Amino acid sequence: MSDPAAPPGPELAPVRMHVVRPDAPALGTIVENRICTASVKSAAYVRHVAIDVAGTPLEGAFRAGQSFGVIPPGTDAQGKPHKVRLYSLASPTSGEDGRGGIVATTVKRTIDEIPETGRLYVGVASNFLCDLRPGDKVPLSGPSGKRFVLPLDPGAHDYIFVATGTGIAPFRGMVTELLASGASSRILLIAGAAYASDLLYHADFQALAAKHPNFTYHTAVSRHPGPNGEAPAYVQNRLTQLADPARAILGGERGLVYLCGVAGMELGILRSLSDVLEPVALGRYLRVKPEAGPASTWDRRMIHKEIAPTRRFFMEVY
Ligand SMILES: Cc1cc2nc3c(=O)[nH]c(=O)nc-3n(C[C@H](O)[C@H](O)[C@H](O)COP(=O)(O)OP(=O)(O)OC[C@H]3O[C@@H](n4cnc5c(N)ncnc54)[C@H](O)[C@@H]3O)c2cc1C
Repeated sequence: MSDPAAPPGPELAPVRMHVVRPDAPALGTIVENRICTASVKSAAYVRHVAIDVAGTPLEGAFRAGQSFGVIPPGTDAQGKPHKVRLYSLASPTSGEDGRGGIVATTVKRTIDEIPETGRLYVGVASNFLCDLRPGDKVPLSGPSGKRFVLPLDPGAHDYIFVATGTGIAPFRGMVTELLASGASSRILLIAGAAYASDLLYHADFQALAAKHPNFTYHTAVSRHPGPNGEAPAYVQNRLTQLADPARAILGGERGLVYLCGVAGMELGILRSLSDVLEPVALGRYLRVKPEAGPASTWDRRMIHKEIAPTRRFFMEVY
């Protein structure tokens, strides 16, 4: 239910949804599949996978921030066909080719040791996608998601984007799109990773920041000093350290916050925003009920209840 007291959000860019359903997928063709961590020696196996969808109903169907479905071949332990998994578009709306014919995503191989048996579990869809090579076919559905997109008038806003891990995917698309449009929007991106070697598209973002004075790129490396020797930090620590530029972006009427990545990252960012922003500015992004108490006592279960993001705060966690 919408909160009548919540400040209005921007009108969002129109999207197309579910043009292709998982039970009748479109067949894309892999055109590129490469490691996209800062180092090939990274312990996180993350790949940039680009797929040609030209000539299928998915051509030109996506907006930056939306996701597509991958339907892995084969059946699960119950003998049922594998279910669709979602992957965020890492491309701008115009795709990798400028015409919406090639879409890309950023895939982390899911690999877990099962505590009860001590055996390795290899995630179905992520490893299927990461193992594909140029020329291979991949069954796709989509687009999915209508809220996690840029506003209709992107140049009318300034942006803070916060990502952990593969949550960087939609921001690769959005930042590329905003900068290519020539908009003078201020854009601040914080990318979080466990180790500097796990940072994704790191050199690309550094190159964009060097070229565009309105775009700043910051990393938060949590288990080791950062690429420039910075002390270990989570994304929320970095946001608090960036209080001045964060206030400059979010203090006025133009600010928007986008957050994407590992479920659980939200709470730290919400607390950091409450540290950084004055109550009036904070109210544009978060509706905090009195019973929520001080930010230091907030917990995850309060999100969307006592602490509710407004329509200027976009969250996608998985
Ligand atoms: C909106 C959205 C966007 C997303 N975007 C991205 C993205 O851009 N990049 C990305 O990498 N991911 C993304 N994801 C996550 C993605 O959809 C998948 O969930 C992820 O890749 C894991 O899928 P999988 O098939 O490899 O793993 P699965 O096989 O589905 O396994 C997932 C987990 O379930 C457990 N599990 C399942 N079956 C068993 C079993 N038999 N025994 C033991 N454990 C088991 C394991 O712990 C495993 O880690 C997104 C998700 C959403 C909802």
